[in-house]
Amino acid sequence: MSRTYGNFIDGEWTDSHSGETFEVTNPAAAGEVVSVHPASSKEDVEAALDAAVAAQDEWASTPGPSRGAILREAGNNLEARKDEATEVLVREEGKTRSEAGGEVQRAIDIFHYYGAKARDVGGTVKSASAPGKDLYTKHEPLGTVALITPWNYPIAIPVWKLAPALATGNTAVLKPASEAPGVVSIVLECLDDAGLPAGVANVITGSGSEVGGPLIESERIDGVSFTGSTAVGTMVAETAAVDLTRVQCEMGGKNPTVVMPSADIEDAAETVGVGAFGTTGQSCTATSRAIVHEDVYDEFVAAVSDYAESLVVGDGLDDPDMGPHVSENELSSTLEYIDIGSAEGATLEAGGGRLSGDDYDDGYFVEPTVFSGVENDARIAQEEIFGPVLAVVEAESFEDALALANDVDYGLSASIVTQDLSEGKRFVNEVEAGVAKINEKTTGLELHVPFGGYKDSSTNTYREQGDAGLDFFSSVKTIYENY
Ligand code: NAD
Repeated sequence: MSRTYGNFIDGEWTDSHSGETFEVTNPAAAGEVVSVHPASSKEDVEAALDAAVAAQDEWASTPGPSRGAILREAGNNLEARKDEATEVLVREEGKTRSEAGGEVQRAIDIFHYYGAKARDVGGTVKSASAPGKDLYTKHEPLGTVALITPWNYPIAIPVWKLAPALATGNTAVLKPASEAPGVVSIVLECLDDAGLPAGVANVITGSGSEVGGPLIESERIDGVSFTGSTAVGTMVAETAAVDLTRVQCEMGGKNPTVVMPSADIEDAAETVGVGAFGTTGQSCTATSRAIVHEDVYDEFVAAVSDYAESLVVGDGLDDPDMGPHVSENELSSTLEYIDIGSAEGATLEAGGGRLSGDDYDDGYFVEPTVFSGVENDARIAQEEIFGPVLAVVEAESFEDALALANDVDYGLSASIVTQDLSEGKRFVNEVEAGVAKINEKTTGLELHVPFGGYKDSSTNTYREQGDAGLDFFSSVKTIYENY
């Protein structure tokens, strides 16, 4: 059963200017069309910007508590539609029902969080240097912002941008990824039903170049928040810089977990396995390198390979351990990296191929894959694979492991498994990553603390989530009052 969605512009669901559409198919059953969306272009971008700019002043002057009430109500509406949103997410993106349900719940929680935070948007009063003078700061919205999001968390990421943008009084034009835009339409229906005024949030679907390009190039945009690949994000940041537009880009990762001899190796293998193969390895924070001390290397490789082989792969609707890749392109890219790993001389310990036979033939299923004997300068240890492929690298010592963890262009998330507190503390202090964890997988984030990467994982401008989300979407004005 397929559903046809529209663009959401000025409070109305509309077709694209050209009338053209594109289809989203089920990654677990590729012949099945799940949804049809407008293939938009520059005319649609301009219409959305007209609406967002026109709605700006009134929304900015709406009191924070009133803005927050609408966000909270949108969260309630989404909660009432959680099962429906979960099913749409699974059928479009392919993740398991449990993973998708968790992600929809995250979006609900984010609406409630920023619904409350909208009350707190304010400033700071400081002591002035003379009597008869007040000195304070005030947070103002940026204006109209462009939000561009990837397919791998197709509801959580749009909401973790949209909710703080609206809480701080901005209007927004959101362009979701074309692989899984249906859940974003549900989010906009929830906001509309909650009483969001027309034009405050707009969504247009279509290709990156036809929609994302004109959106970020527009002089009517006052801020750009992008999540996606480092290649596209770099281009987005360069375009925004031409007009000195505020920009944040959160991008790829090559995230390590270091395993030390004091760890319980079975537990460590599970920590790494969940980080590597959860969401089919399609998380920016997925564990793609295990850097393991030589004393426990063989034991760890055996345990993590057993873990990989124990996973049940299947249609996300059946809630297996791991779903398919989102698309044929992503599947091909992962299979290519598996070939590269073998050609580079790494040892294939588990998986290594496309799954076939029965229902597997209809979808983009790949085996959870483990390579041992990987050199840290190998391509499979340096480049983001974005699939369920783990490279296990051997380290001689803690210092060596730390150096290997840092010897990569990315710096998103990193973790260590150890019972030695000094090692753990040194690791989180010295690792070059925006998220650093002890005895935890590299994936998994709390919504009320900042999130973002170091090095090529981020523009390193602003963080997302928590209070940092509010900071990005507001300008600080400093006021000197003499009386
Ligand atoms: P992508 O870069 O291909 O696309 C991201 C978005 O940008 C999509 O909406 C796409 O249509 C749009 N886009 C593409 N070309 C564009 C252009 N020329 N101008 C403007 N917009 C354009 O990324 P993806 O394949 O959707 O997502 C996977 C990537 O996202 C991975 O690299 C992953 O690590 C990264 N990611 C990062 C985070 C994070 O927070 N750091 C979170 C999730 C995903």
